[in-house]
Amino acid sequence: MTKYIFVVGGVISGVGKGIATSSIAKILQDYDYKVTTIKIDPYVNIDAGTMNPIEHGEVFVTDDGLESDQDLGNYERFLNEDMHRINYMTTGMVYESVIHKERNLEYKGKCVEVVPHIPEEIIHRIETCAKKTKADFVLIEIGGTVGEYQNLLFLEAGRMMKLKYPEKVIFIMVSYLPIPDKIGEMKTKPTQHAVRTLNSSGIQPEIIIARARVPLDKPRKTKIAIFCNIKEEDVISAPDIQSIYEVPVNFEKDGLGERIIKNFGLKARKNKVRAKKWEEMVKNIRNIEKPSNKKVLKIATIGKYFTTGDFILSDSYISVIEAIKHAAWQAGYRPVINWIDSEIYEKNPKKLNELLNYNGIIVPGGFGMRGVEGKIKAIQFSRENNIPYFGLCYGMQLAVIEVARHLAGMKNANTTEINPDTPFPVIDLAEDQKENIKNSRYGGSMRLGSFPCEIKKESVSFRAYKEKTVLERHRHRYELNNDFKDKLEKAGLMMAGVNRERNLVEIVEFKNHPFFVGVQFHPEFKSRPLQPHPLFKEFIRACLTAR
Ligand code: GLN
Repeated sequence: MTKYIFVVGGVISGVGKGIATSSIAKILQDYDYKVTTIKIDPYVNIDAGTMNPIEHGEVFVTDDGLESDQDLGNYERFLNEDMHRINYMTTGMVYESVIHKERNLEYKGKCVEVVPHIPEEIIHRIETCAKKTKADFVLIEIGGTVGEYQNLLFLEAGRMMKLKYPEKVIFIMVSYLPIPDKIGEMKTKPTQHAVRTLNSSGIQPEIIIARARVPLDKPRKTKIAIFCNIKEEDVISAPDIQSIYEVPVNFEKDGLGERIIKNFGLKARKNKVRAKKWEEMVKNIRNIEKPSNKKVLKIATIGKYFTTGDFILSDSYISVIEAIKHAAWQAGYRPVINWIDSEIYEKNPKKLNELLNYNGIIVPGGFGMRGVEGKIKAIQFSRENNIPYFGLCYGMQLAVIEVARHLAGMKNANTTEINPDTPFPVIDLAEDQKENIKNSRYGGSMRLGSFPCEIKKESVSFRAYKEKTVLERHRHRYELNNDFKDKLEKAGLMMAGVNRERNLVEIVEFKNHPFFVGVQFHPEFKSRPLQPHPLFKEFIRACLTAR
């Protein structure tokens, strides 16, 4: 009896379709439904793994090792549930399986056509997800904006599904209403056009979520209702707000949950206890985030995927940002996260002194050579000045290099990712990865997904997790080279977490420091607003007490 909700974007991209989808899912969950979500990315890539973060934003990794879109991270954070491969789809994935089936004669001699075979494959994937998750509601977020060529076949799949089960499918359009400066009035025309465009694909939305700078007034709602052919109650006002986590609460002010349920001809009651937990969290965030709140925590994040032209992109590290926020909020502090391009420390090492103004330093995941020496300098600075340091993936590898070079006497130690001829390859490729590189097998071939890590009792990490074995998500090719373990240990680096099966070091900690922890995995992917990640909590605790 699964119901399907397609979420499409109108007018412009970037108005928060992912957050809207996550919020709708969260609302339905508060009505005690089992909900799941699917993100559709219309590009030809099979997954997001081969794309530069500046192109695409963060690559979010699931437990089962899919390299996906950051929206899956939003879904996990809002629903407090894990997403899997079945929750993601790209044009590349769909075509790949249709071509595969054709080669296997699964179309039994038929001519395989773009329509209906491609939309049928899309529908098959959506239905498989519904079956596997046993969801009452499946939300399907179609990437891009209506009117684009790229997402037409996904819209076509939606149309065909509605034809197949008229009572089980609705469409929600997330639109945008501009308020041009000189006119000063909110304009509905672009939304009207977007709906007409959607109509030309044979689809009429049931609900419109109207994103705008401010709430919608009555005349605007009436106008959209008349011109877009929907009920006035089904126009939901979605003004800009401060925290993304407030969006479900805001949607509910306009009765979105009930409207969706009514559109399916259902009756349901909200689980007030469940909804209250979230509402209280949102209230807490609102209080903490007040600019007048003096309890501020300053974190420097040092990386390189920040700029595109004149714009700063924080999308590349969205899970890191959210994980910091979750832990800081729970501690009652307002996090101020600054982005520092590590190359400035290469050009001007004096700038490192600025880091003394921060409570803590993070070097997140990354690839390649640019900015690496600057990051290593920043790590050294945090070690020598007792500033809490948290290294995530590349941030762990570079911390190992820093200790090797400056405390273990291994001059020019490096990762072979940067210098294959280094005399001290403290970070190196495992054998299976050497094969991948040799054969140019780059797509989906890193060490991906969830792996167990055993933790040493006497470590800071154990204090954080309070567990001997934890599961964390990975996305990397290179590993700490066990040949150098002894030397590094003698220099004061503790191998605090190990994967027993493959004997891989997953956590390093520098002793005699308030917090100097590097993890080969990505803890940020598992932080949730109601359950901050233990290591981020411990890092934040150290930031508040270190100096
Ligand atoms: N470039 C490093 C590797 O491939 C680290 C990857 C990462 O930070 N995600 O091992």
